[in-house]
Amino acid sequence: MDHSRSAKGEARARAAKAPEDDAPVDVAVLGAGVVGMCTAYALARRGLRVVLVERAGEPGRGTSFANGAQLSFAYADALAQPSLWRKMPGMLADLDPAFRVRPSFDPEFLRWGLAFLRNCTGARFSQKTWAALELGVESQVALADMCAHHPFAFDHARPGKMHLFRDDAALARAEEVSQMKREAGFEQHVVGAAQAREIEPALTEAGHFVGALWTPEEEVGDPYLFCRGLLRVLRRDYGVIAQFDFAAGAPLITPDSVTIPERGSLRTVRARRMVVCLGIDAPAYLAPLGIRAAIQPMKGYSFAAPLGAHAPHVSLTDTARKIVFCRLGKTMRIAGLAELGVHDTAVDPARLRALVEGARAGLPHAARYDEAKDGWAGLRPMRPDSVPEVRRASERIFLNIGHGMLGWTFAAGCGERVAQQVLAADCELH
Ligand SMILES: Cc1cc2nc3c(=O)[nH]c(=O)nc-3n(C[C@H](O)[C@H](O)[C@H](O)COP(=O)(O)OP(=O)(O)OC[C@H]3O[C@@H](n4cnc5c(N)ncnc54)[C@H](O)[C@@H]3O)c2cc1C
Repeated sequence: MDHSRSAKGEARARAAKAPEDDAPVDVAVLGAGVVGMCTAYALARRGLRVVLVERAGEPGRGTSFANGAQLSFAYADALAQPSLWRKMPGMLADLDPAFRVRPSFDPEFLRWGLAFLRNCTGARFSQKTWAALELGVESQVALADMCAHHPFAFDHARPGKMHLFRDDAALARAEEVSQMKREAGFEQHVVGAAQAREIEPALTEAGHFVGALWTPEEEVGDPYLFCRGLLRVLRRDYGVIAQFDFAAGAPLITPDSVTIPERGSLRTVRARRMVVCLGIDAPAYLAPLGIRAAIQPMKGYSFAAPLGAHAPHVSLTDTARKIVFCRLGKTMRIAGLAELGVHDTAVDPARLRALVEGARAGLPHAARYDEAKDGWAGLRPMRPDSVPEVRRASERIFLNIGHGMLGWTFAAGCGERVAQQVLAADCELH
């Protein structure tokens, strides 16, 4: 039996039924980035009536908008790792152009920083990377299932991914971690520079590198097109209602429902439960409810440019420069830079230039850099252990937040996880 078809029919029928006057819907999903969209899908697919609430005028306009576009299911390495102790002074002193820290005395920042440092041990790194790899496996399966049932265009492809290493020590460390990836079920090989160039001829222009990590099954896709395409599916096939231009204010929680008001208006959404998928805005939203979310922003940049004469086909990460190259249809999406503790999304022209020039130095003809457009900056919602927070926070509130550097990768799997938790809570009631 095709479960998704029956769930789809059930959801459509329930949505079509005129709701009793002020009967709450089953679930309000707050935030329509990749995480909120996948959450709405996973809930609606299970036959629940869902309302999506988003501050912007359309989905996918937050951090999800123009990220690196890599679906790196097997590259889920936790950011906190022992090698960071060595690099930390350089980051704090602004010596590493790709990774900067803006320290502050804000108690939340300090608490986060201490928790992050506690995670910089070998044992914690393995534990958290393993947890993220499990999420990677689930996400790849969930996304494939979604695409099989609802084919829609978002420049989705499976070109494989390569991590370039320019020094032997870094490659040796990656090789050690690679064993975990294979144990998790991913195909991943360490290849020498010559073999890497055979797989991806564009690397003949990459200058000196000692080898690469090659993961043939990794995928790419445009997250903004994904959000728009999935919204059409949610409305058409599952009767999901989307409330855009709706900045959610503090919810009113009663024994049987939660009412979410729009800030500065009389509009409200009433639901039996809500799932918070507010990305970088989650901590501020949750704090007045007494729910602490350990999330700090890590600003990054991207730009798009037409494909160059030697545009790579595989998705690439230049680990030394911390820059990713991702072919999306006829354009090259290039992303990078990490500024921990920076809260604004303004595009600093000097930082954007640093990214463009770093990419040009790494792969001079990957893109037509002089025609680069759409410079963009976004805030990665970082947790100190790099594992998203997907849990029930109270009777009616669920969290799906803190996806850090890999929210696009983890969105589908985290959506499934939180939907299972909501359903389990419903079962408790019956
Ligand atoms: C430069 C860069 C490159 C990246 N590259 C990759 C990559 O290659 N692969 C990968 O997997 N990940 C990547 N990421 C990370 C990824 O983009 C994020 O983890 C992911 O987008 C987080 O998704 P989200 O849905 O949680 O947040 P968002 O996309 O920010 O969605 C949250 C939504 O909540 C809305 N909102 C906020 N407050 C309210 C409110 N009060 N009421 C209603 N709505 C509200 C916002 O408008 C927003 O639409 C990258 C990030 C950056 C910055």
